[in-house]
Amino acid sequence: MGKRFEGKTVVVTGGNSGIGLATAKLFKDEGANVAISGRDQKTLDEAVRTIGKDTLAVKADVSKLADIDRLFSQVSAKFGKIDALFANAGIAKFAPVGDSTEQMFDETFDINVKGLYFTLQKAIPYLNDNAGIVLNSSVVNSTGTPGASVYSATKAAVRSLARTFAAELVGRGIRVNVVSPGPITTPIFGKTGLPKEVLDDFAKQIKDDVPMKRFGTPDEVGHATLFLASPEASYITGVDLNVDGGLGQI
Ligand code: NAD
Repeated sequence: MGKRFEGKTVVVTGGNSGIGLATAKLFKDEGANVAISGRDQKTLDEAVRTIGKDTLAVKADVSKLADIDRLFSQVSAKFGKIDALFANAGIAKFAPVGDSTEQMFDETFDINVKGLYFTLQKAIPYLNDNAGIVLNSSVVNSTGTPGASVYSATKAAVRSLARTFAAELVGRGIRVNVVSPGPITTPIFGKTGLPKEVLDDFAKQIKDDVPMKRFGTPDEVGHATLFLASPEASYITGVDLNVDGGLGQI
């Protein structure tokens, strides 16, 4: 069998770490021209070495509209039109509702919702017909987890946006789907602002709750994303695919 993304152009936001990095590498291994974005030049440079030759890395903050424009104009200049987009960039900050701050609320919505929304909007003129779009949400988009009110609400918004984007783009054969990871081993947990003891307890609690009794790997989310972005999923649009060891469904 040939490589699934040979000669295709794929953009992964937040492709310099965790799930985005692993997924970008899987796309590259399947023959794609890969472009990634992220905020940190050092990890972007390291990611290019991990993903492979000719990867385009653009330092671009998804919450800044001018940066999104710059991302897509650089992708277009290097690779032409886009066949798959993984809107993956996101942050997670946790606090009980009583302790959540306006700053944390605004930052999380700016990146996870506004950033994703305008990434999609600005991608539209650059997308080939029949492109595959995948949005990264989370299993928490339909659950209630103490301490995760702001984060969960952003991820529910992402799930909702997929439905409307899918409806608006179906006429061009463009499909929009969601992956909703459960707990995945990535650097995101170290950036939550929680102290190590609290994080360790949180991790243990989550592991107990997951029917498969383990965290998932970034590659496990990547494989689901490649499937949804590929022509193998040609009759699938608007769905939310949990990659969560059964957490959200059992
Ligand atoms: P990560 O911290 O390793 O990666 C997050 C990526 O997003 C990084 O590449 C970072 O550069 C990028 N990013 C953050 N803010 C950005 C901004 N303003 N502009 C551009 N890029 C930005 O974490 P991860 O776990 O790989 O998270 C990736 C996505 O997966 C996120 O949307 C997260 O909410 C989602 N997710 C993760 C888990 C998990 O357990 N790890 C579970 C469910 C959903």
